[in-house]
Amino acid sequence: MSGTFNAMVIDAVDGKPKAGFRTLKVTDLPDHDVLVEIQFSTLNYKDGLAVSGKGRIARRTPLIAGIDLAGVVVESRSPHWKPGDRVVVNGFGLSETEWGGYSRYQRLKPEWLMKLPEAFSFEQAMAIGTAGYTAALCVNALERWGAIKPGEGEVLVTGAAGGVGSVAISLLSARGYNVTASTGRPETHEYLAGLGATAFVDRASLAEKGGALQKERWSGAVDSVGSTTLANVLAQTNYGGAVAACGLAGGADLPATVMPHILRGVALLGVDSVMAPMALRQAAWQTLADHLDRDRLAAMTTVEPMSKLPELAEAIVAGQTRGRVVIDVT
Ligand code: NDP
Repeated sequence: MSGTFNAMVIDAVDGKPKAGFRTLKVTDLPDHDVLVEIQFSTLNYKDGLAVSGKGRIARRTPLIAGIDLAGVVVESRSPHWKPGDRVVVNGFGLSETEWGGYSRYQRLKPEWLMKLPEAFSFEQAMAIGTAGYTAALCVNALERWGAIKPGEGEVLVTGAAGGVGSVAISLLSARGYNVTASTGRPETHEYLAGLGATAFVDRASLAEKGGALQKERWSGAVDSVGSTTLANVLAQTNYGGAVAACGLAGGADLPATVMPHILRGVALLGVDSVMAPMALRQAAWQTLADHLDRDRLAAMTTVEPMSKLPELAEAIVAGQTRGRVVIDVT
């Protein structure tokens, strides 16, 4: 660990966040208790905002970007981790206030680390990444609420061809639900059908303001779009159904009424991945280990070198990325 390595660092230039590659040494990293040799990271929407500078994700600078990482513990001052342990980290402020995964090495707090399930390789763990683990948090939330039961009901997934959407479709289909995919890209229908979607909705039809109560269509939904789309999805949810809301790809507002909630008992379940308690994380990763089809995961994933991060970041923010992108940091 005496050598140097390349990392994607966010700095403040003229008061604005600016990402660039920098050569670092292990001694440059924060003084946390566990040193991890990272095998893979990944690209999520939030990473796109951070690296492109289109969103103010890094709240202190400089820091290494990348909200996810998977790798092997090489040094530990914590009794909970030892060299050789395979670990995954999702969120916990990485790339926001803490140094993240676009690096060959990172020092981390022991409580941020989760044992990587044996079921997954490092590459598969990052093919899942925060987007996939959030999709699993959403599916678990809907089932825990009791809105949907495996094998029954029609479930809508918005932002379908994106990362959260792709994994959500795959998981829901494996759990026996009929899955309708809402996408703005008709050219992805074949891809989405391959993941398990059986019907499609044009996302434009959900983007226009609709009535407070619309025809009931969905027993549950996973929404990564927000705004008018989420308002319409709530208005189309069946009596007693629920919507797991995790994203804002279409906007952070919510121009909705209380009508679906007070007349149909529809529940809006908020889903956060960043500070989710360890028990929810482990349950989500268990759902993925038990139900995510590995061939479908491979079909939704591309692996790219860290050097391509700047262009990949622009693409995901522009809504052009299909499925999941793994970042090879080696
Ligand atoms: P992606 O960019 O991979 O997917 C987002 C998808 O949303 C796009 O592929 C597109 O799907 C759709 N979309 C994009 N722009 C618009 C628009 N203007 N209007 C309607 N639909 C749009 O991102 P991720 O899957 O990584 O993340 C999705 C969202 O979830 C983001 O907002 C992200 O910040 C959020 N998120 C939240 C987490 C949490 O902890 N709550 C964790 C992870 C993600 P299509 O082309 O099929 O229409």
